[in-house]
Amino acid sequence: METADVIVLGLGPAGASAAAEAARRGCKVIALDRKHEPGKPVQCAELVPAMIGAELSGSVRQRIDAMATFVEDDAPDVKPDFPGHMLDRAAFDAALVEAARRAGAQVRFSSYVRKISREGIVEAAGRRLSAPVIVGADGPRSRAGKAIGAVNSELVETRQITVGLLEPYHATDIFLSRGIPGGYGWLFPKGDVANLGAGVVPRHKARLKPIIARLHSKLVEEGRVGAKIVRLTGGAIPVGGMLEPYGALEKTVVLLAGDAAGLANPVTGAGIAAAVHSGRLAGQAAATGAIADYVEELEDVYRAALERAMRRRRELLGSNHGKAALRRGWIAYPEYWT
Ligand SMILES: Cc1cc2nc3c(=O)[nH]c(=O)nc-3n(C[C@H](O)[C@H](O)[C@H](O)COP(=O)(O)OP(=O)(O)OC[C@H]3O[C@@H](n4cnc5c(N)ncnc54)[C@H](O)[C@@H]3O)c2cc1C
Repeated sequence: METADVIVLGLGPAGASAAAEAARRGCKVIALDRKHEPGKPVQCAELVPAMIGAELSGSVRQRIDAMATFVEDDAPDVKPDFPGHMLDRAAFDAALVEAARRAGAQVRFSSYVRKISREGIVEAAGRRLSAPVIVGADGPRSRAGKAIGAVNSELVETRQITVGLLEPYHATDIFLSRGIPGGYGWLFPKGDVANLGAGVVPRHKARLKPIIARLHSKLVEEGRVGAKIVRLTGGAIPVGGMLEPYGALEKTVVLLAGDAAGLANPVTGAGIAAAVHSGRLAGQAAATGAIADYVEELEDVYRAALERAMRRRRELLGSNHGKAALRRGWIAYPEYWT
């Protein structure tokens, strides 16, 4: 049995941030990820709000100034003041992992967590590990969350292609349509390429391929993107809101962070910034034992925004997806906020 002060499950933005914080505070940290290398394959549209830390500017690939929302085939509603960055998500995740390693965390890839026992013993890559604290940062279908009964019950399924971008562009395009139920389509420019994707409720997952094909051919016709598909990705996004971010397995405390804690926004699907922030807080709490502070901070920062988003999402799902309902369900419109 290998022991540590903190075991971190997952080395995405939440797990890498948690591992770095706990290690900086002197903890022996072992952090595990099933991936073979940080951040790859990328399953992300790579947009973050402008507030992302300056130390990560090496991962920023282009500036975003505005958001253009297309409701069905109407002319776009442009929101000029929407600053953000398009990241190279693999480089971003790798930088966070490197920071964790530099802080002294033992970072282990190719380490699939097979099981977490009722006593809090972690089984991964043929080893058994234990620690007084486990940070579950293992994404939307978290094993740590499952072990303590905190499961993301609502998900959106996505599909995304990367295509050539024929003209420089500095806005994010959002496509709202009855034909994209429970989600939306996006075109996010990143230098000379763009991420073109969509998300829908899981029961309509089979529609994703034709939805993307249709959006793609329309944009090709308009001369905005190339016909060639450079990359294909996808994945699940938790959209059921915040879970109870802590629990216990006998004497082992379990803290959840990022998607494992249900912190992605149920309307936009954005979860990178919340993953980094909650991961840092979880790492601090793991090191100091201030679990109640962790829970309180997440409640204060995220609860209200996530609940509003869930309300809007439920209203939209219960509607006929008419244009007024689509607008009320999207952050660019004042009616979303009232
Ligand atoms: C297609 C798509 C587009 C998105 N676009 C955006 C966007 O533009 N902007 C934004 O802010 N958010 C976006 N998101 C959401 C964002 O990617 C997540 O919110 C973010 O990655 C959450 O970080 P995390 O560290 O909590 O989880 P993850 O990044 O999912 O990391 C979890 C890690 O845990 C590991 N893991 C899982 N299970 C195990 C196991 N059993 N054993 C070992 N390791 C395990 C995984 O390999 C992974 O590395 C998008 C999501 C998808 C699917």
